Amino acid sequence: MNAAWREDPALRDVLAAAETCWINPEKKPFAAVADGLPVKPGEVDDAADRLDRFAPLLRSLFPETEADCGRIESPLRELPALREKLSWRERVPAGRLFLKLDSELAVAGSVKARGGIYEVLKHTEELALEAGLLRPDGDYADLAGQRDFFAKYTVQVGSTGNLGLSIGIMAAALGYRAVVHMSADARQWKKDLLRQKGVDVREYDGDYGKAVEQGRALSDADPMSYFVDDEHSKNLFLGYAVAARRLAEQLAAQDVEVDDDHPLFVTIPCGVGGAPGGVAYGLKLLYGDNVHVFFAEPVQCPCMLLGLATGEKDGVCVQDAGLTGVTEADGLAVARPSKLVCDVMEYTLSGEFTVADGRLYEDLRALHAAEKLFIEPSACAAFAGYRGLARFPAAQSYLKAHGLIGKMENASHILWATGGRLVPALTRKEYLAKRL
Ligand SMILES: *Cc1c(COP(=O)(O)O)cnc(C)c1O
Repeated sequence: MNAAWREDPALRDVLAAAETCWINPEKKPFAAVADGLPVKPGEVDDAADRLDRFAPLLRSLFPETEADCGRIESPLRELPALREKLSWRERVPAGRLFLKLDSELAVAGSVKARGGIYEVLKHTEELALEAGLLRPDGDYADLAGQRDFFAKYTVQVGSTGNLGLSIGIMAAALGYRAVVHMSADARQWKKDLLRQKGVDVREYDGDYGKAVEQGRALSDADPMSYFVDDEHSKNLFLGYAVAARRLAEQLAAQDVEVDDDHPLFVTIPCGVGGAPGGVAYGLKLLYGDNVHVFFAEPVQCPCMLLGLATGEKDGVCVQDAGLTGVTEADGLAVARPSKLVCDVMEYTLSGEFTVADGRLYEDLRALHAAEKLFIEPSACAAFAGYRGLARFPAAQSYLKAHGLIGKMENASHILWATGGRLVPALTRKEYLAKRL
């Protein structure tokens, strides 16, 4: 491997596992690159339509989605008290601060409820149409009564935890055999919860990449098995991308403008890249260059940052950079990024922020104290973007280069809270007390 990147001054802090901001030097105007991306706007429309068709089924399988008529959606919450609390002890950027509560999503309690459930539904539609169980204009709620049919099929996935929860819960609810291959980082409560739901949980000593590899091999060997491939799946990506259009309605309802004079900053925690990449793509389709999307990754596991900064994409892993890949942020413990997502983000991502594990718990506590909201440690990585915008010279240079300094009073900041609702009460207590 040509490793000239080891000498790149922009990566010095990344290689030293210090918190940092990396600005993407390859970012281009969105209109100039949109047509060349490996996903198309029509595919997001198609995913949104499919989710609407399945809403009656979700409503009948999961009564908790009743209030939203079978839509799996989350609120957008402004955080005035937290903003004030943070501003007492550090510099914060001007503008309003919001949290997107995908931590509260129905069924799976994390952002994975978007992509994961979407992919199981898409597979289900294909099987059911092919078997003549469903007509294209039929009532999808009828599929709730086809457990015997789906029991002949298996759905498998490799996961650090939350994707497994989303795929496992959805697949088991329809009657599929569900097998989730978990990496060593996966939290015990996530495995316990899946087993309670009747899911076959297999555990591996190695990292997430190994769990995926094992799952893929076992599934490929079984013609009745379908593998949800987190590293390559366009379906997962499209399920996540639908989030943006629903967010647009929420922003409008809270009088948030997004235009040339009102920039929107969004920071999303990143593992393999599918969730943040899909959400980012959806946002770019809506807001183009007026939305500035940043990803956040742990200091010891910034796989997407490395994939993009080196240009190696999935050809590089965090161990190549001398990092451990070990982090308390279990949802982000992925050593190698998705090639598909690198291809989408290489000219569209604004940059990345890295975060030390200890800070995740501090922000988890601050959010809970100020706003009575609980999110899981991985989700707290999003705070790195908000604080980092004011803290790092590289971020300030980005604002200057884009003519944003004078517009920050009009800015809005969204931290994408990616998980938390299913964390058991005792584990919440532990997290709230944890100091590293
Ligand atoms: C999975 C996950 C992410 C990141 O999603 P990827 O698709 O792996 O990049 C972020 N936060 C939480 C809590 C997650 O479970």
